[in-house]
Amino acid sequence: MKKHNFSAGPCILPPEVLLKASQAVVDLDNSGLSLIEISHRSKAFVDIMENARALALELLGLEGKGYKALFLQGGASTQFLMVALNLLEKRAGYLNTGAWADKAIKEAKIYDDVYEVGSSKNANYNYIPKGYEIPEDYDYFHCTSNNTIYGTQMKSFPQTNIPLVCDMSSDIFSRSLDFSQFDLIYAGAQKNMGPAGTTLVVVKEDILGKVSRKIPSMMDYKVHISKGSMFNTPPVFPVYTTMLTLEWLKGLGGIQAIEKENEKKARLMYSEVDLNPLFKGFASKEDRSNMNATFTLENENLKDTFEAMLKEAGISGVNGHRSVGGYRASMYNALPLDSVKALVEVMSELESKA
Ligand code: PMP
Repeated sequence: MKKHNFSAGPCILPPEVLLKASQAVVDLDNSGLSLIEISHRSKAFVDIMENARALALELLGLEGKGYKALFLQGGASTQFLMVALNLLEKRAGYLNTGAWADKAIKEAKIYDDVYEVGSSKNANYNYIPKGYEIPEDYDYFHCTSNNTIYGTQMKSFPQTNIPLVCDMSSDIFSRSLDFSQFDLIYAGAQKNMGPAGTTLVVVKEDILGKVSRKIPSMMDYKVHISKGSMFNTPPVFPVYTTMLTLEWLKGLGGIQAIEKENEKKARLMYSEVDLNPLFKGFASKEDRSNMNATFTLENENLKDTFEAMLKEAGISGVNGHRSVGGYRASMYNALPLDSVKALVEVMSELESKA
């Protein structure tokens, strides 16, 4: 039986994407060759890469606006340092909204000065700091749109004249935003795009080439852009699977269509968390994430019963991250509403048993 997969990442992908990706591993488009045994310089793969890059820009509404899309390796974690290497000359501002933002700050500090414009670290990151100021003479401002571990999500972004850099690893392609307010967006594929192994970077070309340091080729966005995201052998399977997911999303009607589904799922989930006296939400209400709902069970004595019921209902991946505890229901694009219904049913059944 197929499980209800609430994993935080790597996570659920659309079944049709999994099927097509697995077929391509055996035989790509009836070519008699596997996707993973052909040259990345072959026309077949170059077309895949170009299609994936174009679809990413199209879905974000960034075509023809001076942006380039790249599919790189090393995860979002490599972007923590690549952003600093390419953009940090004197000083940058960072918003510290979670463990990943904290790691981004740590990496940037290797290269130059970093100022935390705001932080919710003292409250175990259960809210998004607001009312902070960003000095206009900084090289860039970095934020994390969705904090996967804590279940918080930035609902708005600061107006600033300096480049705005955003780690969108756990909510990319999930909600409509004016993506042109960002100058650099990055996201590991393993949430809303594909399998782990590639990271989407969308960068406005005119912010590059302004630092004085020498940048190693593999770390240089300009090098990757000049080589069409093929400076070295790209991760062919993750890029192909991402392309399939982006095609799937386009077929559904794009980000606006999936956003409606994501809102329905989040509404259902949080209404159960709020109405059921056995559970308590972790994140502050106005900052709640539509992707990762974090909550705790008020009565620890019910833990074993609840977890046995989850297992019985085929619900997988809802254990919270160790730094928050409790439970985390990740509701990425490919998670059906029915899976949330199944989880909510178990939660209300627990209430009737208690
Ligand atoms: N940023 C965020 C918001 C994340 O959730 C994660 C991990 N899933 C990362 C960065 C690190 O990503 P990676 O494991 O791809 O390096």
